[in-house]
Amino acid sequence: MSSTNLITSKEIVVKRFASDYSHEELLGIKKSFKPVAEMSRRRQKISNAIVLTIILALVISVAIPEIFPAVSVSLTTGFWIFGGLLACLFSLLIANLTPLFKCPACENRLYNIKKYCPECGNQLPTVRHFPQDGLRCEKCNKNILIRKGKRYFKIKFCTFCAVKLDDQGV
Ligand SMILES: [Zn+2]
Ligand SMILES: [Zn+2]
Repeated sequence: MSSTNLITSKEIVVKRFASDYSHEELLGIKKSFKPVAEMSRRRQKISNAIVLTIILALVISVAIPEIFPAVSVSLTTGFWIFGGLLACLFSLLIANLTPLFKCPACENRLYNIKKYCPECGNQLPTVRHFPQDGLRCEKCNKNILIRKGKRYFKIKFCTFCAVKLDDQGV
């Protein structure tokens, strides 16, 4: 059975690091990561738009009986709250699916935190697989933290091989 399309949590041994690649190779890696990064940003935008729409709809549905007391909207409000919560959960799910991509250079899962800072590519002070309190990067001073499945940093560099993947970050 082929498992080439499956992203497993198994760590792949890194054979080449950022400094081992030529300028052309690095450009090629960045190029191959571009569609993934753009898809991720698109999903993030959709997710944000859903949440924003729901908040707006909730505000409106609450405001309507205030402005027009004659209109009974208790049912509508209930519908919006219920639908809104569902949509929020759905959008969070979309947003959380995005980190399941892997590095095109070393093929490791980018969601893990390993050796290098995903924000600047500098070597992180200590190696921890599950940094509950985050790791403070000495170079860019960002706190590299994943808490309750939420990522508090952007992925610009691969944390396993330090190859630059995206300028904007995902
Ligand atoms: Zn890598
Ligand atoms: Zn850094």
